[in-house]
Amino acid sequence: MDAGTRPRAAIVVTGSELLTGAVQDANGPWLARELGELGFGVTQLVMVGDRAEDLAEALAHVGAAAELVVTSGGLGPTADDLTTEVVAGYVGAELFCDEELRVRIDARIATWAKRSGFAGAALDEATRKQAMVPRGAVTLEPYGTAPGVVARKPDGPLVVVLPGPPRELQGMWPQVLAAPPFAELLAGVPHAEPRHLRFFSLPESEIAATLRDLGIPDGVEVTTCQRRSELEVDLHPLPGREVAAKELASAIVERHRAQLLSEDGRTTDELLAAVLAERGLTVATGESCTGGLLAGRLIDRAGSSAYVVGGVVAYSNTAKTAMLDVPAEMIAEHGAVSPEVAKALADGARAEFGAAIGVGITGVAGPGGGTEAKPVGYVCFCVTTADGQVIARDPVLAGGRSTIRERSTDLAMHLLLRAATRYSS
Ligand code: ATP
Ligand code: MG
Repeated sequence: MDAGTRPRAAIVVTGSELLTGAVQDANGPWLARELGELGFGVTQLVMVGDRAEDLAEALAHVGAAAELVVTSGGLGPTADDLTTEVVAGYVGAELFCDEELRVRIDARIATWAKRSGFAGAALDEATRKQAMVPRGAVTLEPYGTAPGVVARKPDGPLVVVLPGPPRELQGMWPQVLAAPPFAELLAGVPHAEPRHLRFFSLPESEIAATLRDLGIPDGVEVTTCQRRSELEVDLHPLPGREVAAKELASAIVERHRAQLLSEDGRTTDELLAAVLAERGLTVATGESCTGGLLAGRLIDRAGSSAYVVGGVVAYSNTAKTAMLDVPAEMIAEHGAVSPEVAKALADGARAEFGAAIGVGITGVAGPGGGTEAKPVGYVCFCVTTADGQVIARDPVLAGGRSTIRERSTDLAMHLLLRAATRYSS
């Protein structure tokens, strides 16, 4: 199935800071995923700078071949925030100041205005600008201070205008789904639940071979995506082809069960957080070459205080001994990068913090420091648990320094998941 059999959606993200990479585009991919899940075929993601002419041109271009256009950015009060104005021109509607909306925006910022001392003519002007919306459009309540807009171009696409800050854009999304013109468009979109499989440490070539072997049934679209150490396999059936997608998913899982992470799209990080929280297990880290990346990754998730106790970055030999009780003789005998030291780091972290699960990582991240026996990329991992599990690995990871450290973190997360899942409590 190609995207052409589904209603087409195009995304226009605006902002000169996106073109230079000063800010990474978070909205385009997020919108593409959401729209894809809803059943649209997302055909274009266009990035334009802050010039009104360029935005107008981009709208005309993508709007000629899409039933839906979603824009992000350029709704603020400053002179370079021109999206609503340009979209009004595109759909052929005049802008007017929605007085009730202006009052609501005013109320939203009243406390801030008072406290900051910026209340006054300039702020009033900014509020008035943000309350200018195309006549006949549906306005979406501001999540920050700028409203979103849903407007139809006669004989053209439906245009949804959203703010740039990702938190605001995502916060406004439920309103988009509920807006009558969008809901009406969505009602005509053929929808069938997609399936999301996730694997760990499975090369894309293996899935490609499996798919060649099994064959992809008509009416099912399969996309695979390698994301660091995880491989995502998505199956999108056309309506009526759900059973074929389900059967194919089962056959793929059957072949690669050993590497299967989840059949519902959940990632290692999500699965680990869930199992630790559910089972009331705690984790402590003893890191050398990853220098806190693992602790950072664990703590990245809201709610992690329920299961992360603490961690130590023990980079030098002295620190390993002083902070985590790694015997100096062990380091002298086996070297700082060794399975023995990885285990001692795990045990040390577990003991130091009184955690159920300890993890130790020590390796040669490079570019210098490699030897024939312990080349760059050689990393020793160990997870030890209060219920007596010892899970050790010592692979040679490919890549430069940052990739090796990142992959080490991925693998450690995976080993933690394994230990937590098998924990007998
Ligand atoms: P504001 O009222 O904050 O100006 P806006 O709707 O006008 O909101 P922009 O001016 O385009 O949005 O962007 C404001 C900020 O939001 C940017 O500086 C950037 O930090 C963030 N932002 C905008 N677009 C994106 C994007 N596509 N991906 C990630 N961040 C973005
Ligand atoms: Mg702005």
